[in-house]
Amino acid sequence: MNTIKSKLPNVGTTIFTAIGQLANTHNAVNLSQGFPNFDPDPKLLELVDHAFKSGYNQYAPMQGVFFLREVISEKIESLYGHSYHPESEIIITAGATQAIFSTISTFVHSGDEVIVIKPAYDSYEPAIELFGGVVIPIALEGKDFKMNWEKFKSAISSKTKMVIINTPHNPTGTIWSESDMQQLQEILKDTNIILLSDEVYEHIVFDGKQHESVAKYPDLASRSVICSSFGKTFHATGWKMGYCAAPKELMSEFQKVHQFNVFSVNHAIQIALAEYLNEPEHYHDLNNFYQNKRDYFLNAIKDSRFKMTPSKGTYFQLLDYSSITDERDTDFAERLIKEYKLASIPVSVFCGEEYNQRFLRFCFAKTNDVLDQAAEILHKI
Ligand code: PMP
Ligand code: GLN
Repeated sequence: MNTIKSKLPNVGTTIFTAIGQLANTHNAVNLSQGFPNFDPDPKLLELVDHAFKSGYNQYAPMQGVFFLREVISEKIESLYGHSYHPESEIIITAGATQAIFSTISTFVHSGDEVIVIKPAYDSYEPAIELFGGVVIPIALEGKDFKMNWEKFKSAISSKTKMVIINTPHNPTGTIWSESDMQQLQEILKDTNIILLSDEVYEHIVFDGKQHESVAKYPDLASRSVICSSFGKTFHATGWKMGYCAAPKELMSEFQKVHQFNVFSVNHAIQIALAEYLNEPEHYHDLNNFYQNKRDYFLNAIKDSRFKMTPSKGTYFQLLDYSSITDERDTDFAERLIKEYKLASIPVSVFCGEEYNQRFLRFCFAKTNDVLDQAAEILHKI
């Protein structure tokens, strides 16, 4: 056989799969990959069951079930005050992952620069590389992972095609403020840069703060593709359902790729999601639900040797172990699994080689018994 020339020579198996397998092998309490260990609302499961039994078992329309797109459009308008036309500006995707991949493949040409803010979710960079794009990384600064907007501004060049942002942020659990968004809007004004806004945790924001969607900022909205996920919002990551919203001129290009990438996604689940999403209380209470989980977890570990700044959004909590050991986070994460039977994600995998802070990421989307087990282990370290 001819030697295969890899398009992604530096990519191995994702950290979530690798750590998940290690956690299983060692029978560890698993707070690594971001998914709930509980089921979606029985009402949603019933709607799905009903849709499967009502004949929605063939291809859905290419852009998605129209009623679902209408409900998403209403949701965005009521929360963020921006109107996306359900006919031409919203597409239902196979999770946010496909929305992100299709957005990058639609707009990034060979040699284009894409600004990626580090730490960054792991799916952005391989997609950029696959289409010949050049990643321009910008590191968030300090232990509170703040954006340095001067540094951001100086990273922009005539080759910048796209900027990828993510608030609430995985893995740090930080959120951007109105002032961050205004600075971003000011810097991008008068450019042709496309913004990919990963908003999968839009409904998981704590302490009375608001999610800052790009949809709230007219100039940002005009250049943005918003990617979101039903998996995060409805405790159903295994269904791989999401959507994206963008102005018509961006979406018509996105659609060209989408129709050959996946064509359409699970029909019956779209029917069920449409009905469920039509009742806003199904996502309005998510902030409180996860804030209670965060507080439960933090309270349970408050006397441990780990240092923590409460997560402001997402269902991830970073723990700072710098006063415990100087080990690299990948080594410490592995040791925690093997010796203590507790799995987490080392933050450096979202950052690159140069990163040397001492943080592990823990997912608190777990039932209290599992959070208790994790806390008990953390106290022993
Ligand atoms: N973006 C971020 C920041 C994520 O944490 C995830 C993980 N769920 C995704 C995108 C992918 O979402 P989905 O599972 O809907 O593909
Ligand atoms: N988003 C999840 C996380 O950050 C993982 C999704 C995946 O395994 N690709 O943990």
